[in-house]
Amino acid sequence: MELFYTSTRDNTKKVQASEAVLKGLSEDGGLFVPERIPRLSKSLRELSELTYQETAYEVMKLFLTDYTEEELKSCIAKAYDSKFDTAEIAPLVEVDGAYYLELFHGATIAFKDMALSILPHLMTTAARKNHVKEDIVILTATSGDTGKAALAGFADVEGTKIIVFYPKNGVSPIQEKQMVTQKGDNTYVVGIHGNFDDAQTGVKNIFSDKELEQEMTAHGFRFSSANSINIGRLVPQIVYYVYACAKLLKEERIKDGERINVVVPTGNFGNILAAFYAGHMGVPIAKLICASNENKVLYDFFRTGSYDKNREFVLTSSPSMDILISSNLERLIYRIAGSDAGKNRELMTALSKEGRYEVTQEMAAQLADFYGNYADEKETADRIRELYEKTGYVIDTHTAVASAVYRKYRDDTKDETKTVIASTASPFKFTRSVMNAIDKKYDTMSDFELVDELSRIANVKVPGAIEEIREAPVIHDTVCDRSEMKQTVKTILGIS
Ligand SMILES: *Cc1c(COP(=O)(O)O)cnc(C)c1O
Repeated sequence: MELFYTSTRDNTKKVQASEAVLKGLSEDGGLFVPERIPRLSKSLRELSELTYQETAYEVMKLFLTDYTEEELKSCIAKAYDSKFDTAEIAPLVEVDGAYYLELFHGATIAFKDMALSILPHLMTTAARKNHVKEDIVILTATSGDTGKAALAGFADVEGTKIIVFYPKNGVSPIQEKQMVTQKGDNTYVVGIHGNFDDAQTGVKNIFSDKELEQEMTAHGFRFSSANSINIGRLVPQIVYYVYACAKLLKEERIKDGERINVVVPTGNFGNILAAFYAGHMGVPIAKLICASNENKVLYDFFRTGSYDKNREFVLTSSPSMDILISSNLERLIYRIAGSDAGKNRELMTALSKEGRYEVTQEMAAQLADFYGNYADEKETADRIRELYEKTGYVIDTHTAVASAVYRKYRDDTKDETKTVIASTASPFKFTRSVMNAIDKKYDTMSDFELVDELSRIANVKVPGAIEEIREAPVIHDTVCDRSEMKQTVKTILGIS
């Protein structure tokens, strides 16, 4: 059955999936949402016999209905191949009473690879289907992981260029090194003086600049977005929740019909929204546990019904979650507003004008499946050390926020439901914070000494993505003010 997409701010127009993938964001500033969430057409038992790639096809065909079977299968085959260091793509590891769903086995060792290894193929396929003649310019704001994963995904993909903005002092040294050493004739990386929200706001402003759009068209370019607001990012992320749950069934860790909880370390709300969509497709998910770091806007939102970004922005050891505007939450707001685009627009206007909004009681009542909590810096570090000392398993800082929040949840609720924790980055990506959490004595070591030491104590091979940047030369060194982002883009594209 054909599925159309509408904007969360104006649902009078419908677009096909491929058009939504190409555009990223709707012209009215809203996000594209499917008109309904499709139900899985196979039982979990049937799905449990499938490979990751086959599962991806079963999920994606229901959402991207204007792609042919051949197109989708080709995109999937190009994405989930030997770029991943395990044939399983997303392994599930049982440690200390929970299942860690390792989403970091791709090219850049963070969960962003799960979607960004397929997005370029979905996008170039969509361009072909829609007879787009211009080159696609991907413009992305990153808090660290998206940038590198998008660069790796789009590097040297014909008909595309990619420009990444990151907060100059807001990402880990390894994250920065990964980005500034990126190869590919079509890749550009720019640091900005500001935080992630500044970068994201700057990118959004460029996207909605009508004058620039005309200049772009005249020069044979068109913008698109690889940020997690793109439906082409969201849909591939649903796959691993289906896959994980099916695997638990296959391995007889859960029974038919038994529900599981999912814990997601959250920033922009993309990953947890994918879990929410998976639940509505028929995956037996009970609670969605939303874990925040000290930027706990979402915890406060789930507790009070009031979203308020007027607060101090905290730089934490989990930088990919240092976010005060969780863009993807808009999709949930639209849904709990009963698909009322006017109501959603009203709230989003309040957010951009006053930095806050409040949902009605009726809307809040529909959030019962969510549980929010947060872990501060000490709790996060303690969790890394305790888990390591107890089991030898080393988790990264983001996953540690989730793991610490899961413990609070169990203490609060005594809920013993089997639980999957989304493990969103390899500890090798945040080596210094991770090693410092384990023992302060590591503080004097250099970044790459720490990498080798981590490999030794965790008994895990250094990932290829890290080996690669050890000696790699810096290729990108542009830095600009947040007010100069538009001009920087024009200069890169050779538009005056
Ligand atoms: C992006 C990211 C997150 C947050 O995911 P959202 O989809 O933005 O909520 C968490 N952990 C890591 C390591 C990330 O890269």
